[in-house]
Amino acid sequence: MEYDVVIIGGGIAGLTASLYLARLKVDTLLISIDLGGQLNNAVKLHNYPGFDGEKGIELVRRIVELVQELGIEILIDEVILLEKVNGKFYVTTRSGEKFTSKVLILAMGKVPIRLAVPGEEKFRGRGVSYCILCDAPITIGRKVAMVSYGHRVLGYLEILRKYASEIYLVSPKPNAGLSREELEHIISQGIHVVDRAKIKKLEGRNRLESIILEREGLEIQLKVDMLFVELGYTTATDILRDFVKLNERGEVIIDKYCQTSVEGVFAAGDITDIPYKQAIVAAGQGAIAALSAYRYLKSRGMQTS
Ligand SMILES: Cc1cc2nc3c(=O)[nH]c(=O)nc-3n(C[C@H](O)[C@H](O)[C@H](O)COP(=O)(O)OP(=O)(O)OC[C@H]3O[C@@H](n4cnc5c(N)ncnc54)[C@H](O)[C@@H]3O)c2cc1C
Repeated sequence: MEYDVVIIGGGIAGLTASLYLARLKVDTLLISIDLGGQLNNAVKLHNYPGFDGEKGIELVRRIVELVQELGIEILIDEVILLEKVNGKFYVTTRSGEKFTSKVLILAMGKVPIRLAVPGEEKFRGRGVSYCILCDAPITIGRKVAMVSYGHRVLGYLEILRKYASEIYLVSPKPNAGLSREELEHIISQGIHVVDRAKIKKLEGRNRLESIILEREGLEIQLKVDMLFVELGYTTATDILRDFVKLNERGEVIIDKYCQTSVEGVFAAGDITDIPYKQAIVAAGQGAIAALSAYRYLKSRGMQTS
């Protein structure tokens, strides 16, 4: 089957792109492993204008309802191969389907790096969060821990200090990967630092209640109400390695039009090298990518269906 545009990824970036293209009457196929992506994990979505504190999955439900109303074609499948031959794009899925298109929009998102310890899955959304920017407001008066290292720690602590009553910084690195001055500064702010520590497991009944750490051969139990895992993100960009230019973090490099290094390929959302991984940013980029795709098709005299 041939389309004007194939969008890969049904998170908020890909879904927003599909809404714009549907309204522009561009023949579009959206292929995704699931619909909603990371938003499905946001227990309370914050910082999305007009939608604050509700479940991310509710926003997904509303967008998908609109997507269905507009008749956007969706295939639930995983894209495993992308090729460009004679200016045309060939998309192969895990179930063996093949599609061609004039334009591609990459919106495969990012996944936070997990601890991979017992209890992590059980308490995800019940005391374990991967997004300080999103969930810091629910820590008012609470005792929290953050596992992280390096300079990202300083920005996150600045946000957490506005809400939490007691903060533990647990870090696998010596001095949490900070300079001596930075470390002294955060300790003077009342932050407890446990460096060179490895989280072994998370415990609790219905919610997270404590973290079991190992430090210099000793096991330590830390009682906390919340744990923020801020170890960075990984990209799902393996299939893009020899296809578009990626930065050192594996993110797709784009310009202000969401154009990638390959003509006719646009990218949007957390998969890109934009520094802020937020729903509103991903949605905005989805819109830009769709409008740029439309402009690209028109400027090359390509007939849209
Ligand atoms: C727990 C949590 C809470 C959050 N809370 C907030 C918040 O309160 N406020 C806020 O602004 N942001 C929040 N975020 C961040 C926000 O959810 C993301 O920035 C945003 O959802 C990114 O959207 P995206 O479309 O770029 O990517 P994603 O949501 O990651 O979507 C990518 C999509 O691509 C699909 N996909 C991946 N690879 C393939 C493939 N090969 N083939 C087909 N499909 C593929 C995936 O299945 C998925 O559907 C939170 C994130 C998490 C994890």
